[in-house]
Amino acid sequence: MQYEVVIIGAGPSGTTAAMYLEKALGKDKVLLVDKATFPRDKICGDAQGRKAANILKELGIYDEYTKLPGQKIYGLTLSSPNGTQIHLDVESRDKPAPGYTHKRKVLDNFMFENAKKLVTVRTFTVTDIIIEDKYVKGIVGTNEKGEEEKIHAKIVLAADGANSLVAQKLGFNKNPQDDFIVATRQYYKNVYGLTDRIEIHLVKHLIPGYFWIFPLGNNEANVGLGMIVKDMNSKKVNLKEATLKEVKDNPLFKDRFKDAVPLEDVKGWNLPVASYHRKCYINGLLILGDAASLIDPLSGEGFGNAMISGRAAAQVALEALQKNDFSEKFLKKYDEMVWERIGSEIKTSTKIQKLGKLFPFMIDKLIVKASKDENFRKKVEAKLPYTSGREEIGSLDFLMELAPEEKEVHKAAKED
Ligand SMILES: Cc1cc2nc3c(=O)[nH]c(=O)nc-3n(C[C@H](O)[C@H](O)[C@H](O)COP(=O)(O)OP(=O)(O)OC[C@H]3O[C@@H](n4cnc5c(N)ncnc54)[C@H](O)[C@@H]3O)c2cc1C
Repeated sequence: MQYEVVIIGAGPSGTTAAMYLEKALGKDKVLLVDKATFPRDKICGDAQGRKAANILKELGIYDEYTKLPGQKIYGLTLSSPNGTQIHLDVESRDKPAPGYTHKRKVLDNFMFENAKKLVTVRTFTVTDIIIEDKYVKGIVGTNEKGEEEKIHAKIVLAADGANSLVAQKLGFNKNPQDDFIVATRQYYKNVYGLTDRIEIHLVKHLIPGYFWIFPLGNNEANVGLGMIVKDMNSKKVNLKEATLKEVKDNPLFKDRFKDAVPLEDVKGWNLPVASYHRKCYINGLLILGDAASLIDPLSGEGFGNAMISGRAAAQVALEALQKNDFSEKFLKKYDEMVWERIGSEIKTSTKIQKLGKLFPFMIDKLIVKASKDENFRKKVEAKLPYTSGREEIGSLDFLMELAPEEKEVHKAAKED
């Protein structure tokens, strides 16, 4: 069977690409395969921001998305290594919510069902890519009947997630340990004090890793802990044990868990982050989302970037089909398009992450100052992710204002 486009993986990157492609090609020309049967779980913090919202609006499914079970998110509760806690708001409550949490089992199924209305969908486990005359020409895998099958396509989009088989086969998955995060997730019921803000707790011994409590509505919470692999190894942290320990012992929130009921065991998954710019195209193939290492290294957000890559991949695949040019030289355009959109914010996130790691006392300074000084807190709010001001938070001007005497910090900020 020959398709114009085959997409491997029906997460946010793959389903987004599918929905954009259908608009131009129609149902029979695009095949979306996934090894899982939907609805399926995906280990995640379950938070989505404005990037995802913008694309869902373009696709005409935003209103339905906002009605999925979940929680409107208006802000962020942030605690510093010394235990100071502040509440920051991104938007006032009379405005539409800038973010949401939806369990990925629900959200991905919503995306999958919308894609299924538009393109051909199959349960199929990809085991290899077909390469002929130096071009990717399709996929090989196990079909619904358990038989091996080959499927040909003019162009293949690999949206197969953090442990991407395709990125592994091509040797593109070699992120340095600094550019790889591992994180846990455990759903809870009955955590006290949940609000309409997500919570990020910068725990002293785990920094720049962080512990999160994200409200999910229905008195449930998504609780987790993420750390850079290099730090986790050097500090010899067992992430699952560390997650449970924080819940039990952290003086800032242990009381809030005293009647909480875990709804599952602690689970872990990988986050290849975009501080490492991975190659994401070869002749006849584009790589999307986590498989292309597009997660923000500071916040761990990958859902929106996965959708951005899905939209860009669809656009470039359509141009390639029109021009009948599937060469790496032409497809490089996809990489340029994605990085033009996310490059500067990834650079800022990487810089803030590095400065925080080098000078953890600056995080205390920032949060303590924001907790005491209303005007300064407003300034920080305006620079949060989901707003356009984030670039400034790692800037020299901002750091000068925060700590005019810290020459070493200024030097490091200038160097980056
Ligand atoms: C613990 C944790 C917390 C996170 N928290 C957040 C958060 O709060 N907000 C946020 O924005 N991001 C978060 N992320 C990142 C986010 O989950 C990912 O960036 C996002 O899911 C990437 O989407 P994707 O489409 O690239 O891949 P995925 O969502 O992983 O989808 C890949 C799909 O490919 C399929 N697949 C894989 N291999 C094959 C194969 N061989 N054959 C066929 N199908 C295959 C899988 O079944 C899956 O459906 C978090 C990640 C982790 C691990």
